[in-house]
Amino acid sequence: MRILLTNDDGFFAPGLQALYQTLASDGYEVGIVAPEGQRSAAGHAITLFEPLFVNAHQLPFGGEGFSVRGTPSDCVKLAIQGGIVAKPDLLISGINLGQNLGTDVFYSGTVAAALEGVLLGVPALAVSLASYQFGDFQPAAGFVRKLLKDWSLITDGGLVNINIPGTPAEEWRGVKVTRLGKAIYENIFERRQDPRGKTYYWQSGTLTPDYEEDTDLRAVGDGYVSLTPMHSDLTDYKRLKSMSQLMDQFMS
Ligand code: MN
Repeated sequence: MRILLTNDDGFFAPGLQALYQTLASDGYEVGIVAPEGQRSAAGHAITLFEPLFVNAHQLPFGGEGFSVRGTPSDCVKLAIQGGIVAKPDLLISGINLGQNLGTDVFYSGTVAAALEGVLLGVPALAVSLASYQFGDFQPAAGFVRKLLKDWSLITDGGLVNINIPGTPAEEWRGVKVTRLGKAIYENIFERRQDPRGKTYYWQSGTLTPDYEEDTDLRAVGDGYVSLTPMHSDLTDYKRLKSMSQLMDQFMS
């Protein structure tokens, strides 16, 4: 079985490298095509007006990995459509440093890269460690290893967004299948001045998580591993009928 790894934290990020080590030492055929540097919050952007420079790196378990001067989605497109690696059976994006929960999925390069795989016909997992402090990717990599036994059933050809608590595996309370919640960020734009007196802003935010029942935010907040099945169809099916009735009235 052939697995393609990518991420948005960059080729040399510890989360991706830990996952590579775990899966390659299990005997999976693992390739890497990932951004050469930090591309977190790149969303689903692709690069059209600049070239995609690529560097090859010898991988410890054989073969070559590729770092790309592009976005996470560029990497997946280049890997699958550009033919720089053999077509994978499964794409895994991560392990990201930091959670990708609820509304985060719109900004996340990690989730976008996984979704790009699905758009190109490759089932995908987006995997995030929901902590910036914990620092140990082994428990999360171990969880992915377990999932791989049934990856085909679990992905069902689509995308699963996985968030793993930043604690040792013994402390996890279990696994929950969840829906996306609403991560509400209070954005702060700090106004600063550069050494030449020019004003600039640096944005950051504090999260007010929505702890509604059944959400990914609630599950991870309560110490569970969260699995959210996702697809690319953003249609609001609840409004289809009412909107078409409204348009009929407009036109009559
Ligand atoms: Mn990231």
